[in-house]
Amino acid sequence: MNTSSKNILHNSLATLKEWQDSFGEWRQDATLEVSDEKIEATFNRLAQRLKCNFPFHHPAYAGQMLKPPHPLTWAAYAMAMSINPNNHALDGGPPSSEMEKEAVNELAHFFGYGDEFLGHLTASGTIANLEALWIARESHPDKKIAFSSQAHYTHERMCSVLRVEGVKIPVFEDGTFDLNSIDTDTIGTIVVTLGTTGLGEVEPLDQILPWAKEHGIRIHIDAAYGGFFRTLKDTDLIDGTSWKLMEHADSIVVDPHKHGLQPYGCGCVLFKDPAVGKFYKHDSPYTYFTSEDLHLGEISLECSRAGAAAVALWATLQLFPLKEKEGFGPILGKCRNAALKMHELTEASSKFKPYKKPELDILGYFPSDVTTTSEISSKSKRIFDSGMKDQSFYLSLYRIPAEDFTKLHPEFNADSEDVTILRSVFMKPEHERYVEELIEKISLHV
Ligand SMILES: *Cc1c(COP(=O)(O)O)cnc(C)c1O
Repeated sequence: MNTSSKNILHNSLATLKEWQDSFGEWRQDATLEVSDEKIEATFNRLAQRLKCNFPFHHPAYAGQMLKPPHPLTWAAYAMAMSINPNNHALDGGPPSSEMEKEAVNELAHFFGYGDEFLGHLTASGTIANLEALWIARESHPDKKIAFSSQAHYTHERMCSVLRVEGVKIPVFEDGTFDLNSIDTDTIGTIVVTLGTTGLGEVEPLDQILPWAKEHGIRIHIDAAYGGFFRTLKDTDLIDGTSWKLMEHADSIVVDPHKHGLQPYGCGCVLFKDPAVGKFYKHDSPYTYFTSEDLHLGEISLECSRAGAAAVALWATLQLFPLKEKEGFGPILGKCRNAALKMHELTEASSKFKPYKKPELDILGYFPSDVTTTSEISSKSKRIFDSGMKDQSFYLSLYRIPAEDFTKLHPEFNADSEDVTILRSVFMKPEHERYVEELIEKISLHV
């Protein structure tokens, strides 16, 4: 946390303290007090333990989808957490519930939905997708849910939780879906991922949309990772075609705790038709619904949820609007540029090759001064390990069927079933200026 964020947090907590004190004098109970020695010892140990993390904040960390939240998001979260509102019911936190509705409204409009929609925050993308697939099942009780083999693994798992049959759709080399292979009469919903977790691929909503509409099939968009890239839909940085069609989907999931600068515990699900609220109906004698206004708990599978998560997202969207030229657009633009630059650098390199051109900010690449897929795998793993061992850089590994790999790179001999390549998620804007240094460092480990 930088100095200005620290001061802001300090001053804001002081303001809240004044409000807390306005209810009359009170003192923390003696049972909650701990000696200074014990506090110091515990927090010293805690700091030591936490130092065993990888440096998620640093651009040398170009591995998985991980980064700390923005310091100001952190400050907003901490402020709200000092009160600890629960966004289950309006009485659990009136202001944070209002802020959740406002923030979710902004996200819904950002994706092109109108004023009539239903949506709320969730603990994660997985829970948000679970809700969307549950509504999919309730809407088409006897039908299957289709998704591609690139879809997040939780879709298959959640189908099993929901006892719905999941169907995997084959994807052609150019990224289009093999829609002719599907028996349309048996499918109720199709999942389209805009920004796959593996390599940030954008599935062809433009191909799927007319087909789904023709056959009365629901569309669920999983934009857990990619959603915020919609800020770039009208730029030359990405192909905006599918991003511009999002409003036609029946449901959308986005994870503000991925590209939205939020701490973990912030997913979001949106439904185009607010009538799906009927599936959530529940009644309980202990829920303290005191008004006629919509309680978020009435349209959510989860009960207690962190009001602080909503406050942090609300504050972030005030500070960083969902716009192309201000706020999130320039941030995402730099992440995208980092991936494009790394793609160029690996293409020009004598030691590496890109697996394919990235569509967002995730690049797959591999050591190319070998002849077989098994050598690519062992060398990739060695580079991955040795960078981490001397704390020089942090990458991730990605496994691909060798058959798919050699379709794109026929000059390599497939002597193994799978091939493991290197993968970097450039989800920090600082990566844009760092990729040259990164490839130099990686090259020393080949
Ligand atoms: C990360 C991710 C998920 C799962 O979200 P969690 O917040 O990790 O539960 C689902 N789908 C996609 C495309 C993702 O990238």
